[in-house]
Amino acid sequence: MTNILISGGSVAGPALAFWLRRHGFNPTVVERAPALRTGGYKIDVRGAALDVVGRMGLREEVVRHGTDMRIARFVDAAGRQLAGMDAQLFGGREGDDVEIMRGDLARILHDATRDDVEYLFDDSVTALEETADGVRVTFENGPARTFDLVVGADGLHSNVRALAFGEESAYLHDLGHYISICTVPNHLGLDRTEMMHPAPGRSAGMYSTGRSADAKAMFLFSSEPLGYDRRDVARQRELVAGAFAGQGWEVPRLLDAMGEAPDFYLDSISQVRMDRWSSGRVVLVGDAAYGPSPASGQGTSLALVGAYVLAGSLAAAAGDHEAAFAAYESDMRHFVEENQKLAASNLKGMVLKSAGQIRFQMFMLRLMPRLPGRNRMIRRVTEPIRRAATAITLRDYEAASSSAS
Ligand SMILES: Cc1cc2nc3c(=O)[nH]c(=O)nc-3n(C[C@H](O)[C@H](O)[C@H](O)COP(=O)(O)OP(=O)(O)OC[C@H]3O[C@@H](n4cnc5c(N)ncnc54)[C@H](O)[C@@H]3O)c2cc1C
Repeated sequence: MTNILISGGSVAGPALAFWLRRHGFNPTVVERAPALRTGGYKIDVRGAALDVVGRMGLREEVVRHGTDMRIARFVDAAGRQLAGMDAQLFGGREGDDVEIMRGDLARILHDATRDDVEYLFDDSVTALEETADGVRVTFENGPARTFDLVVGADGLHSNVRALAFGEESAYLHDLGHYISICTVPNHLGLDRTEMMHPAPGRSAGMYSTGRSADAKAMFLFSSEPLGYDRRDVARQRELVAGAFAGQGWEVPRLLDAMGEAPDFYLDSISQVRMDRWSSGRVVLVGDAAYGPSPASGQGTSLALVGAYVLAGSLAAAAGDHEAAFAAYESDMRHFVEENQKLAASNLKGMVLKSAGQIRFQMFMLRLMPRLPGRNRMIRRVTEPIRRAATAITLRDYEAASSSAS
C-alpha cells in the first residue's frame, strides 16, 4: 500500500485523501491549524467540479448547504441604492453552479474522510529528503516519518512548494490588487443579501448568507505590491484602513469592526504559474500548484478536479508516480489555463478605475432587466465561465482502483 503525505487540510487536501482512499492508497493529512478551519467566505463549485462532487456522493449535501444568496445591492457614499442585481441573473444555469461557504465545504470533505484517513493537526513539514524509494519527512512537532510520496495541498503560500521548488516569488504573479475579508456583526440585518460600495480603485462590501448574526466584510483595492510581514496582522489592518480612509457608506463602521475580527484575512490577488507541478516524489495540487486567484472564482473547482485527476492518475499508473504525475499534468494543463484566464477580465469589473466607469456600470445594471437583448448580454458574461469550468473531460478511474492496492 502506497503511503502518501498530504500537506494541507482545506479543500484540495481532503478531496485528494478521499480519492486516494477510494483507489486503495494510504493518505495522511498534515494541517498547520490546530483544528479544522471552518471559517471563510463564499466560494463556487461549478462544472466539472460539481461532477467530481457527484462522483464522491456528496452533491446533495453540497447543494443543501448552498448560500441561496438573493440580491446584490450597489450603494453610493450616502447609502442610496445605485443598482440591484438579482443573484440568479448571473448564477449560471440551474444545477451547474453551487455557491457554498468555504468552511461548510471543508467540513463536508473532512466528515467524508475523517474515519479512514489519518489527520495530523497543529503540525507542519519542516524538511523533505528524497531517497531512492521514499521521502523522509521532518515535522515541526511530530516525529520524522518516511512516505512514498508527498503532496503539497497547502494553498497559495505553499510550504511544500517552497521546500521542493524554491522561493514563492518565482511562481506568484501579482494581479495588482488586494483582498481583505473578515467576520463582522450583521448590523444591517442583511439576509442573503450583499451590499457593495464601489469607488474608484476600491470596493467595500458586506454580505450575509442569512444563516447567522454575523456578516462578512470585504475590502478590495488596487495597489502596487505592499511590503509587509505576513505574520504582522496589526500592520495589515493598518494597510486596509489606509486604503479605505475617508470612504463613505458603512465603511468606517466596517473598518472599526475589522479591528476586532478574529479571522482577519489580507492577501494579494495573485496567480500561481508553474511549468511543472511535480519534482521527483513531490507533487502539488490546488492553489499550491495553480491557484487562479479569488478573482477567477474557480480556485475551489480547480482544487476539487485536480484532486480527482491526481488520485485517479496514480491509480491508473498502478503507483508509478512518474507516469502518474505526467498524466496529471497533461490532463489538467488546458483546464487550468482556461480558468486562470478568467481572473484578469473579472477583476476589471470588480474594481473600477474611475467615477465615470462606475456610473456606466451602474447604469447598465439598472437597464439590463428591461433590455430586449438582456439574455444575450448575460450569456456574454456567464458563457466564458461555463466554458472554462467544463474545459476538461473527466476520465473514469474506478476500474484502475483494484490494481492500486
Ligand atoms: C477571499 C477569497 C475569496 C475567494 N473566492 C472564491 C470563489 O468565489 N470561488 C472559488 O472557487 N474560489 C475562491 N477562492 C479561492 C479558494 O478559496 C481556493 O482556491 C481554494 O480554497 C483552494 O483550496 P486549497 O485546498 O488548494 O487551498 P487552501 O484553501 O488555501 O488551503 C490550504 C490549507 O493548507 C494549510 N496550510 C498552509 N500552510 C501549511 C503548512 N505549512 N503545513 C500544513 N498545512 C498548511 C492551510 O491552513 C489550509 O488549510 C477565494 C479565496 C479567497 C482568499
